[in-house]
Amino acid sequence: CGIVGYVGHQRSLDVVLEGLRRLEYRGYDSAGIAVVADGRLATEKKAGKLANLTEAVSAHTADNGIALGRTGIGHTRWATHGAPNDRNAHPHTSMDGKIAVIHNGIIENFAHLRAELEAAGIELASDTDTECAAHLLAQAYATLDHLPVQSTPDSAGRLAEAMRLVCRRLEGAFTLLAVHADAPDVVVGARRNSPLVAGRGDGENFLASDVSAFIEHTREAVELGQDQVVEITPTDILVTDFFGVAVTPKEFHVDWDA
Ligand code: GLU
Repeated sequence: CGIVGYVGHQRSLDVVLEGLRRLEYRGYDSAGIAVVADGRLATEKKAGKLANLTEAVSAHTADNGIALGRTGIGHTRWATHGAPNDRNAHPHTSMDGKIAVIHNGIIENFAHLRAELEAAGIELASDTDTECAAHLLAQAYATLDHLPVQSTPDSAGRLAEAMRLVCRRLEGAFTLLAVHADAPDVVVGARRNSPLVAGRGDGENFLASDVSAFIEHTREAVELGQDQVVEITPTDILVTDFFGVAVTPKEFHVDWDA
């Protein structure tokens, strides 16, 4: 029910967990986080209160790199498909463990997509509508990897292009965020019928369900429209529609107390 993304110079773990705390008022039954550090993806997810997640994370901080990364995403879940347990909590990951996805909303055509993935030999690890997006992203990313070199975008651009390809296949309501172990400085987001806003910092940028998640860091916000994909790096916020056409987003200053 709440979504936070961060890329910049701070420990993403701290920024994302604090952002999730600020979104707690929305209600949730589970929480999770994914951090990219040193070409690795570290994830942790737990049913129940955020305290369960922070406890699990601190048990791991020394060994799995989750405390180190400067790129991260976090999620609070309000289950619609699949029981509220650890396994169904977000993030959901691709089979190679390189892509992590979080989602608010409902992917209406998930049954069809899951069947297609299963037919392709993919083992689904959860009962959610969301998980299919992680596998579809991995498939799309792999396809783009085989483009001729001169037309292959860098890993950040490739993840964004994969997101556009996947979103064109999804029906329903979604805010999606994704990170990739091989794309250390980018978070890609997308939205349709579900809220997402970007925050512009100094050498750091944010994504969230609402501005209250990042207001302590920046009050410069960027409005994202219906059916748009956004790519945040420490220095840039790039927005396109689902077909890759660049969009100039509306910037606004948050002058109320969120
Ligand atoms: N439909 C997804 C699930 O049940 C996301 C729910 C949400 O918006 O938190 O896992």
